Amino acid sequence: MKTALREDVAEKLTSLAKRRGFVFPSSEIYGGAGATWDFGPLGVELKRNVKDAWWRAMVQYRDDVVGLDGAILMHPRVWEASGHVENFIDPLVECRNCRHRFRVDDLPKGDELMDAWRSKRLDLSDTACPNCGERKLTDPRRFNLMFKTFVGPVEDEAAVAWLRPETAQAVYVNFENVQQATRRRLPFGIAQIGKAFRNEITPGNFIFRSREFEQMEMQYFCRPDDAPRLFEEWKAERMRWHRELGLPAERLRFREHAENERAHYAAAATDVEFEFPFGWKELEGIHNRTDYDLRRHTEYSGKKLEYFDDTTSERFVPYVVETAVGADRTTYAVMCAAYDEEPDKEGIRVVLRFRPQIAPYKVAVLPLSKNERLVPTAREVWAQLRPNFISTYDETQAIGRRYRRQDEIGTPLCVTIDFETLEDRQVTIRDRDSMAQIRVPIVELVPALTEKLRA
Ligand SMILES: [Zn+2]
Repeated sequence: MKTALREDVAEKLTSLAKRRGFVFPSSEIYGGAGATWDFGPLGVELKRNVKDAWWRAMVQYRDDVVGLDGAILMHPRVWEASGHVENFIDPLVECRNCRHRFRVDDLPKGDELMDAWRSKRLDLSDTACPNCGERKLTDPRRFNLMFKTFVGPVEDEAAVAWLRPETAQAVYVNFENVQQATRRRLPFGIAQIGKAFRNEITPGNFIFRSREFEQMEMQYFCRPDDAPRLFEEWKAERMRWHRELGLPAERLRFREHAENERAHYAAAATDVEFEFPFGWKELEGIHNRTDYDLRRHTEYSGKKLEYFDDTTSERFVPYVVETAVGADRTTYAVMCAAYDEEPDKEGIRVVLRFRPQIAPYKVAVLPLSKNERLVPTAREVWAQLRPNFISTYDETQAIGRRYRRQDEIGTPLCVTIDFETLEDRQVTIRDRDSMAQIRVPIVELVPALTEKLRA
């Protein structure tokens, strides 16, 4: 960030995101649907690029990880086995005076109160309601974060289903299917991108915490003894990935979870945190889930989920190292990191400095004007680019304004067609970051752009 104050960036990005078509509040014409968001024409490209970058790094480039796309609706016993029915709980308190509700960790000194709640010695008699100031908070009520629904026409207990709160369980219940279908030997991973749902009591910070979101999770099955070492290796690998995506090193850090804040399944847990405009927050969780999930599914399904090592004739339940990152959160982090402002002669130039591989549009084609002699050539150039790059075309308003519009959505390169083009069949490539311009023949345009986007 060069000139913009970080605190302002969240507000500016929310407004830019809506104005330019990255993210809209869901069901906005009805007043919104409560912390759910729709990705617009630019947002869908950006998020897809983030997901593709993850899939490339986690599946395509690796010889030890395969993919899966599990169903959102699963057998309800899955969530009993996983521990979510019992443990996926937030403590919720209500003020007896003003009737406001709060999550315990959102109260003043929330971290201390949560520690006390976990060790069953929470006393709220001295805690003032953040809304009205009265010391009249109720004892906490256990609130399950899973969305409940019913399968089939009858809404009774036998028909209960849950919208999955994490994608990982589809991997565990398919452990044997994948292992047998692909003849994998340990260690190997199963990666999945998909929607998950959590009935957050206090969502917020734009798309940082929403009730419906997309996860990119990988479960790495290994020998129990190897889990601590692989946990460290995956931490390093995931940090490398975030940096490659364009998040600066000084805005990334690890945070180890204390024993009493770890999820019910984790023997070790580390977050990758990013410094958002509203503070350091979790981007990704890396967990040593031990053999917890496979053992529980064995217990609840009656189906043994084991690994047989035919070289040593051992039979055992593998351990799992999990990496779990939010696609929406990462997309937001990438936008925060890319946002930049610099003074120029028209005031301020806003630039989203995305790495080319994640920029929504790689190239914009801009005829110098709407002149009828220029437009056919410009359209011909655009047709040539479309099979090679996600690109856009803009012929309205002055060329300077159009460059600014592309800068604001992070398009790395613009191609301009002017009257000289009609004579010499050359076009101008303009670089978003340096604003430098070079001329290249139309016949060499695709290779020239490809090389610049790779740089
Ligand atoms: Zn109150």
